Amino acid sequence: MSYDPNNIFARILRGEIPCNKVYEDEYALAFHDIAPQAPVHVLVIPKGEYISFDDFSRDATAEFMAGFYRAAQQVTEILGLQAGGYRILANTGADAHQEVAHFHLHIFAGCDLGRMIKSGLV
Ligand code: AMP
Repeated sequence: MSYDPNNIFARILRGEIPCNKVYEDEYALAFHDIAPQAPVHVLVIPKGEYISFDDFSRDATAEFMAGFYRAAQQVTEILGLQAGGYRILANTGADAHQEVAHFHLHIFAGCDLGRMIKSGLV
């Protein structure tokens, strides 16, 4: 599977589609999810053509990866999530129902998020 430069997050990065921005630097853009699944639900996306956690972690430079993950940490500070805690999730591929083929972290917070994933799957 090759990277589709017309995916919705690529279009947000190019400024073709608006977003509700939380943070931006040279490595990453963070914005509120359009359909929040928690009181705080922010997406952090790299400024590069990566489909998922898989190719990002394999192909991105160490400097870029560090910059990206530090940007995600900056988001948690900007939003004051340290006290209550938060969850970071990266859907990868079909079984995880990844909808947008541009790597992204979900940051969830603002309530008791429960334990991991839905029970009864195994
Ligand atoms: P995933 O299933 O991990 O690929 O998640 C994709 C996420 O992108 C979903 O939570 C969507 O609600 C969110 N999303 C899709 N389009 C937009 C958009 N234009 N702005 C913000 N979030 C979006």
